[in-house]
Amino acid sequence: MPWKIQKLSGLFQPLKVIPKNANLKPDNLLSNSQKLMVENGIVRLSGNGMFQILPLGVRALDKLTKIVDKLMAQVNAQKILLPTMTDAQLWIKSGRWHTAGAELYKLKDRHNKDYLLSPTHEEAIAGLIASISPVSHHKLPIRLYQISSKFRDEKKSRFGMLRGREFLMKDLYTFDQSLSAAENTYAEVCQTYDKIFDVIGVPYVKVAADNGIMGGSLSHEYHFLANIGEDLLMFCDTCNYGANKETFKEETCPSCKGRKMTERNGIEVGHTFVLGSRYSEPLEATFKGIDGKTTPLQMGSYGLGMTRILAAAIETLSPYDEIRWPISLAPYTVCIITPKEGSKEESASQLAYKLYSELNCINSLCGDIIVDDRGSMTIGKRVLEARKSGYPFVIVIGRKSVFADPLFEIINVSKSEQLDLNLKEVLEYFREVSSEGSGTKQKEALSS
Ligand code: ATP
Ligand code: MG
Repeated sequence: MPWKIQKLSGLFQPLKVIPKNANLKPDNLLSNSQKLMVENGIVRLSGNGMFQILPLGVRALDKLTKIVDKLMAQVNAQKILLPTMTDAQLWIKSGRWHTAGAELYKLKDRHNKDYLLSPTHEEAIAGLIASISPVSHHKLPIRLYQISSKFRDEKKSRFGMLRGREFLMKDLYTFDQSLSAAENTYAEVCQTYDKIFDVIGVPYVKVAADNGIMGGSLSHEYHFLANIGEDLLMFCDTCNYGANKETFKEETCPSCKGRKMTERNGIEVGHTFVLGSRYSEPLEATFKGIDGKTTPLQMGSYGLGMTRILAAAIETLSPYDEIRWPISLAPYTVCIITPKEGSKEESASQLAYKLYSELNCINSLCGDIIVDDRGSMTIGKRVLEARKSGYPFVIVIGRKSVFADPLFEIINVSKSEQLDLNLKEVLEYFREVSSEGSGTKQKEALSS
């Protein structure tokens, strides 16, 4: 067999029982996503707002990274990696060393020089561009992004990975020669963000947002709707216009002047800004125009909360006691459960591996299947665990698998669908599911 079989018996997945009466109220540290992720060995809490991301969590993160990388390439954004520590001088120049306040982790080196653990990288990237300034107008636009740890000493780090003190962000920074060019870039990148969220497959909303301490002229946020969400969003009942309540100072909808609004809670999963010359001017990130004049670049900044997206997806889609991943992010798409040792169907055990190798030949499932080979446990117990862990599909090698034409029990967890299919039908089923799963919207997004 060309693949190393991925077996549950060898998976590092420390389960943890969180008592039923654990308090999941908003003023408590726990959210349903945190409870589910810790209980099912996806992450562990190593301290307040700090997480150990375990193999299943990293697999989900890798899937998200793949989606993001692919779509960033579509807008010609190139991946870089900036240092975690940023020189305080850059933040002093931008003014944020003092205004960002208590959220900053400030530190000194042995020479008493000040640094911070970067909470975001506008200054650092402007510093990089400044070091090669003035950039020739021929080299524009510049679009650079990274996926890296960010540090914020959050006042209330709670709800698990929804609000960490260390978390992973994807941050893209763009540099253009005029505000109108920066606004065109903004429109293009926002379209790509829409695609990223379409591919992730969790329902989302995009709302007008406040620029906050970031500065600049234009800003939107992407949210997953959930009661636990800490942002209040307003939606116009007439035209669906949405805005973060922070920006909402009028009585009527700014888009259609409608008067009836609905309030919803959202989890902010992405935030986009046109920054203008807010950072490029003080940090001297400039370009030389066609007329030979040196001018500050027009910047844009585009954040995605990578670790927050994982938790927010679970928060939005899951019932109280079982994880539901969007198929796009599930650590494994399929879990195959082998017969119980000593049972009548034990003779069908080898079928699990045949099925495993056949399903691995379906492109979208390759490497995405795990075999629950813990034969000392009953099938029932393992099905319950598989549902709880959030595998979108479970296949049981059970009583009907000893038939001359063996049947497999397919459980489509999110559709509550259960089917008995023979090998040929199983393969057809998953070929169809995988073209659905990376559904029309998703496929279009990834190929256009
Ligand atoms: P919030 O209002 O939730 O504190 P923010 O507006 O301060 O977030 P941004 O500076 O816009 O956050 O950061 C970009 C993205 O990074 C956010 O849209 C969010 O998805 C993610 N993010 C921000 N803070 C955290 C955090 N403490 N833990 C996890 N993800 C975060
Ligand atoms: Mg924000």
